[in-house]
Amino acid sequence: MCDTTPPVPEAADFPAVAASEARSLPELDAALATCRACPRLVAWREETARVKRPAFQDWTYWARPVPGFGPPDAPLALVGLAPAAHGGNRTGRIFTGDASGDALFAALHDVGLASQPTSTHRGDGLRLHGVRITMPVHCAPPGNRPTSAERDTCRPWLVRELALLSPALRAVVVLGGFAWQTLLPVLADAGWQLPRPRPAFGHGAEAALTSRDGQRTLHLVGSYHPSQRNMSTRTLTPVQLREVLLRGAVLARLPATRPRETP
Ligand code: SF4
Repeated sequence: MCDTTPPVPEAADFPAVAASEARSLPELDAALATCRACPRLVAWREETARVKRPAFQDWTYWARPVPGFGPPDAPLALVGLAPAAHGGNRTGRIFTGDASGDALFAALHDVGLASQPTSTHRGDGLRLHGVRITMPVHCAPPGNRPTSAERDTCRPWLVRELALLSPALRAVVVLGGFAWQTLLPVLADAGWQLPRPRPAFGHGAEAALTSRDGQRTLHLVGSYHPSQRNMSTRTLTPVQLREVLLRGAVLARLPATRPRETP
């Protein structure tokens, strides 16, 4: 007799079981939001929501896993790192309400991939055009540093999300080395053939992956993460961020536009 008891959200195998059962992105997002498989991250996301920042004392923090954002038939995906403690973990939408999001959505709007340049809360009317933003770790980690074990526990959510996006997906802009290192084995397991030697991460680095049947190509484009530190030190400038998003849009065959003036 086999045990058919569904895993509880606290179980380590909850992401694998619940993600594999999701038949659509809304189903996946709903299941994801109940996940409690990483004790350290659950404690951190809830503690952050209890203590709050002084500027956000009036907020009721989301304090749950933050799902991906954007249409289910997006030909372009952006893959980041994890929600920010007082950004996505507060607002419930990735890159929303933090400095990284300020830079990212301004750039997406500049090239015609977002309906507005700001992203402040889930009801602000923002829409993405042909772009889905997701991440390898869906709960805010202390110091923005998830452990390898937490990354691996969260991995089934990303695997399933990419599988559901796969029919329309043509390109991925990968925001940072952590996302690049996490994404390559996920894509390899999903049947995409990686170039040899395995492509190294860098800003502007590109790789073309071929499907198992040789009929499809998935393009990867590396970008430095638009973190507050990278933007303030100009490791990544707004112009560089726009250019890399434009490159992803071209590879995804999206009708993005180059701004007339590039300060
Ligand atoms: Fe679940 Fe991922 Fe959050 Fe861990 S990081 S609790 S696997 S959603």
